[in-house]
Amino acid sequence: MLQNSTKKKKKNVVRVRFAPSPTGPLHLGGIRTALYNYLFAKKYGGTFLLRIEDTDRKRFVPNSESYILETLKWCHIEPDEGVGYGGDHIPYYQSKRVKIYRVYLKKLLEEGHAYYAFETDQELHIKRKEFHDRGLTFSYNADLRMQMNNSLNMTEKQLLKKLNSCLEYVIRFKINPGEKLKMHDMIRGPIIVNTDHLDDKILFKSNGLATYHLANTIDDHVMGITHVIRGEEWIPSMSLHILLYRALGWIPPKFAHLPLILRSDGKGKISKRNIDGLNFPIFPLQWKDPETKNIIPGYRELGYFPEAFVNMLALLGWNPGGKKEIFSLKELINFFSLERINKSGVFFNIRKANWFNQQYLNKKKEEILSYLYKELKRRSLFCEEDYLSKVIQITINRIHFIHEIWEHSFYFFISPNSYNQNFLNKICHKETIYQLEFCKVFFSNINQFTSVYLRLLFQKEIKKKRERQKIMQLLRISLVGELKGPDLFIILEMIGKKKSLQRIENMMKKIKGKINIHKKFNNSC
Ligand code: GLU
Repeated sequence: MLQNSTKKKKKNVVRVRFAPSPTGPLHLGGIRTALYNYLFAKKYGGTFLLRIEDTDRKRFVPNSESYILETLKWCHIEPDEGVGYGGDHIPYYQSKRVKIYRVYLKKLLEEGHAYYAFETDQELHIKRKEFHDRGLTFSYNADLRMQMNNSLNMTEKQLLKKLNSCLEYVIRFKINPGEKLKMHDMIRGPIIVNTDHLDDKILFKSNGLATYHLANTIDDHVMGITHVIRGEEWIPSMSLHILLYRALGWIPPKFAHLPLILRSDGKGKISKRNIDGLNFPIFPLQWKDPETKNIIPGYRELGYFPEAFVNMLALLGWNPGGKKEIFSLKELINFFSLERINKSGVFFNIRKANWFNQQYLNKKKEEILSYLYKELKRRSLFCEEDYLSKVIQITINRIHFIHEIWEHSFYFFISPNSYNQNFLNKICHKETIYQLEFCKVFFSNINQFTSVYLRLLFQKEIKKKRERQKIMQLLRISLVGELKGPDLFIILEMIGKKKSLQRIENMMKKIKGKINIHKKFNNSC
């Protein structure tokens, strides 16, 4: 068992890495992988490293790297080492580490663990098709490699000649069949793979670039990575990586594969390529597509707090046990354990994400206050801080984001300029006028205009509950313009007698006007 940093004896044993490919913005799954790596490193006083895995130049998307760095910063989970942070293993870009890969590749070739293969893509395509037409699957493996155009079937002289004349070749890893490879995943437990089912994966291409598998394995070893924490989609690569470590004479790191994040509509996993019809954002920050120039908003732009986002993300696949759901980053570090990560996919729920944001709103009263100030200033209005604080206190539970505050509190400052149309149509008759008239007279006679007193008198005066509720609805629409909002008597107290009476008057005028139009045209109002 590892030692928690608080009682650490060994120092800095843990080294983990986040190793994204710069193929676009990070999605929820990507940033969650970074977070779990960060939490694990910090828990054990270890190092969290950022490596950019840019071996596949065809899939390179400009701005991905700066996006990744900015996201980690926004989430307050910055690396200790790596791209943008320096360290003993620069460069942390795989495209710049080819010299290192060549050293180990040479060793693999010399020791018979790898070989040159000369089929072009076109030839392989034809081969695949031939097999497919015969109802078979083509796999470049132990069964077939001796029939293919590769260095295993050549003399050294032939190979040299070929290498000198041939422009295109690849280097493949030679997998020995007939082994039941036993592996261990820290989340899933034992995994056994029969090497008969593995093919001889390409490690290096003649364009001078290593493939992901080779670069990833070498870098993890050379950079001293102790734990590989990454997405479930990499489980199929684990056997190849373990065999590569073995061939190179290295002890592999420990592996932990994280569950997928699933769409709640049952349409599979969340990914950059699977965003059609999604009703929630999947990117932490706004992403501007360099080709289409389309802007896709992220959690930051939509008003989520980074603490809430990180808290929500941490619990998306990790179960801390117990009822506690709100965790600061410090607490997450303390409680985090790979053992409590789910094995199966987790459904993403935007309502839960919003709930998390709401929980953090209570700690943001200052920010809400200055937001409200700005909204008022924009409308040339002014209000005492005490009054604003009360408004915030009354409405905070009704909002999830700071920017929602005005929409949910404007009626404390200005009269509504529109009313719920459906409800207006329903109450468009003379009785409404009488009821509003009653309210006017009733309120005019009250000097102690407090919520407690108003409620008490109201209940005393209108005994029948149904009638009372009806009148309260009329009052609510007069004051707020809608049938929603906090406690009516609190609204009355906040707005005050004079303005409340004014708004009742406005509503009476509105209803009278509608009744007149109705009379004139004799249609429904
Ligand atoms: N470069 C891989 C990715 O973008 C990371 C794989 C790994 O962590 O080993 O998902």
